[in-house]
Amino acid sequence: MRVYSLHKTYSVTLSPANGGASAGGRPLGGQARARARGSSVVLDGALKAGPEKNLRVLGAVWLSGSGLPRRLYRGELVFTSQKNLLRIINTVPLETYLAGVVTGEAGDLSHPEAYKAQAVTARSYTVKHMNNHSGEGYNMCDSTHCQLYTGLGAPSARALAASGATRGEMLLYRGEPAAAFYHSVCGGRTEDMTFVWPYEYKPYLVSVRDGPPGRPYCSIAPGFAWKTKIYFTGLTRLGRRAGWLVPDEEARGMRISAWGASGRAAEIEIYTQRRRVKVTATDFYHGIGRRAGWQGVRSSYFKILSGKDYVLLDGVGNGHGVGMCQWGAEGMARKGFKYRDILRHYYPGTEVRIHD
Ligand SMILES: [Zn+2]
Ligand SMILES: [Zn+2]
Repeated sequence: MRVYSLHKTYSVTLSPANGGASAGGRPLGGQARARARGSSVVLDGALKAGPEKNLRVLGAVWLSGSGLPRRLYRGELVFTSQKNLLRIINTVPLETYLAGVVTGEAGDLSHPEAYKAQAVTARSYTVKHMNNHSGEGYNMCDSTHCQLYTGLGAPSARALAASGATRGEMLLYRGEPAAAFYHSVCGGRTEDMTFVWPYEYKPYLVSVRDGPPGRPYCSIAPGFAWKTKIYFTGLTRLGRRAGWLVPDEEARGMRISAWGASGRAAEIEIYTQRRRVKVTATDFYHGIGRRAGWQGVRSSYFKILSGKDYVLLDGVGNGHGVGMCQWGAEGMARKGFKYRDILRHYYPGTEVRIHD
């Protein structure tokens, strides 16, 4: 399994971790720095090497650099240079990669059955998306574009136990690996895939109620309910940057104009002095998150209350709402459900089996 680091940098610091590491075939005795120089890579510090077309590091090594949080990697790391930037590809066994993903994705959960459910979804998702970047020489990137992967800084004991206990098990629909989408908190009801990604449909990615009415399984999640005030001035600025509004247009209000199966907003209308601009709720939610760098709008599951010069978004949930609700899985596990029950609940019609 080859994972590509999307982090852009021209130099990284390598330090050997427990168990040691080698670089370019020689033991790495201490800290060294790998740098991109033109189309080759040089290493200096405790070990000097290069310039070479690529630098191969084996073993356990800490990487750090400008803007790159210190992370522990295992397996094989290959550094190459592309236009003075380092391209870093980590090759790890699938199960090792999964323990790393589960550590990152299930970090706030605690129940072993929730971890097992997460391990099966992550494995299915990984196998299904294994060819996301095959044209570029690797399987997946380490960002949320594919699946968040932070190396193996601290592969949690729970994550390792869960991937071990479910080894090889996948979520299957009619015998084929399912697209096991998941999110943090659904807010009481998961969403049909179609309302989040128009034109996409899977019979097992449909809206399900997350527990008894009024007492959703995920209500134990921190930040289950949220409120965000958006002033018209801020909405105008965002709308112009996102291309929803033209430069002289001013936002003067906002309402929900269409809803998904779960009751989430599917489409938003922004009023200006001349017209109503339609924006899909997915674009709105992503547009606001990316452009304003806010964590303010955590899902598209909200009501809009209007004020004089602002709107108040009164929402629940966190994430797109499709597939497994991670905090709901935790809530179900605490109520005594096993990981297979949890997965059947969020992905109706699927089964958990070893795929051959
Ligand atoms: Zn990707
Ligand atoms: Zn939920």
